[in-house]
Amino acid sequence: MTTGTPVTVLEPRLAEVGGFEVGRVLPQRARRMVGPWCFVDRMGPAHLGHGAGLDVGPHPHIGLQTVTWLIEGRLLHTDSLGTEQVIEPGQLNLMTAGRGVSHAEQSSGVADPGVLYGVQLWVAQPSLTRWDEPAFEHHDDLEVVEFDRARATVIIGTFAGAASPARRDTDHVAVEIELDTGLVELPLIDGFEHAVLCLGEPVVVAGHIVEHGQLAVIDPGDSAAGSLVIESPVSSRVMLIGGAPFDEAVLMWWNYVARTRAEIVEAHRDWSSGGEQRFGMVPTSLERIDVPGPPWA
Ligand code: MN
Repeated sequence: MTTGTPVTVLEPRLAEVGGFEVGRVLPQRARRMVGPWCFVDRMGPAHLGHGAGLDVGPHPHIGLQTVTWLIEGRLLHTDSLGTEQVIEPGQLNLMTAGRGVSHAEQSSGVADPGVLYGVQLWVAQPSLTRWDEPAFEHHDDLEVVEFDRARATVIIGTFAGAASPARRDTDHVAVEIELDTGLVELPLIDGFEHAVLCLGEPVVVAGHIVEHGQLAVIDPGDSAAGSLVIESPVSSRVMLIGGAPFDEAVLMWWNYVARTRAEIVEAHRDWSSGGEQRFGMVPTSLERIDVPGPPWA
C-alpha cells in the first residue's frame, strides 16, 4: 500500500482533562471508531509543576477498556478494585469496566516537575463481556519487534509475529513504533480497520503527510496489499491501532459506552446517587467528578 490507499487524516480537537490539555482524535463526526477503538486522547507533551498537572478525580466507566500508555513522565492509577499502580513509559495500564468501575489518575505526588506525555484510548467491549465484572492489568514486559529503521512495542494483540499478554475481548491491536529516518514497511492485518497516530515529528503514511497529533485512518480497501509504508524524514514516533470492524452500534455519553439511552441514564443515576454499590470506592484524596445527566434524560 502506498499512494492510492484510502487514507483520511483527522485533526485533533483540543479538550481539557483534569487541568491538562489533550488532543482528541476519536470519536469525531467524520469517524466514530476504528475497529473497537472508540476514543483516542493524546495527553501533552506538557511541562508539569507550578500548578500544572493531570489530576482526574474518581469517575465512572461502563462497557469499555481504558488503555493508558506513557511516552514521558509518570501517572498514578487508582481504582475501585483497590488497585494503586504507577505507570511509566513503555508500560500498559489496561482497565476493563464491564458493568461498572471507577478510577482516578494523577500526576501530582508521583511525577517530579518535568514533562508528561502519553495517550489514553478506549476499546468498546462487545455484548459478550460488557456486563462482566471489572478488572485491571498492568504489563511491563511487552515484546519489541525490530524492523530495519523501526522498533515496534506490541501493546495489545499480535503484530509481526509477537504477541502481547494483555486481555482482549475483541480482535484488535495497538503498537507503538519508534521510527528512524527513512522508510519502513509495516504489516497490516487482513480485514482490520487501521489508524496511525503521529506522536512525534511529521511522517508520511501511505503518501499522506501526518503531523503531530493527527490520526491517519486507513480503510481496509484493497487489503490484499497487506502492508503500510511509513516514511519518516527525521526520527519520530507513531502509534498504530487496528481491529476488525465493530459490528454493534455503540452509544457513547460522558464516560459510558453503551447501546441504549436507558443504559446510560441508569448508569448515570447509579453514579450520581453516590455510586458505591455499582462503581465502588477509589482509594484517592482527589474529589470525585460529577456532571449533569444526559440532555435527553
Ligand atoms: Mn477514566
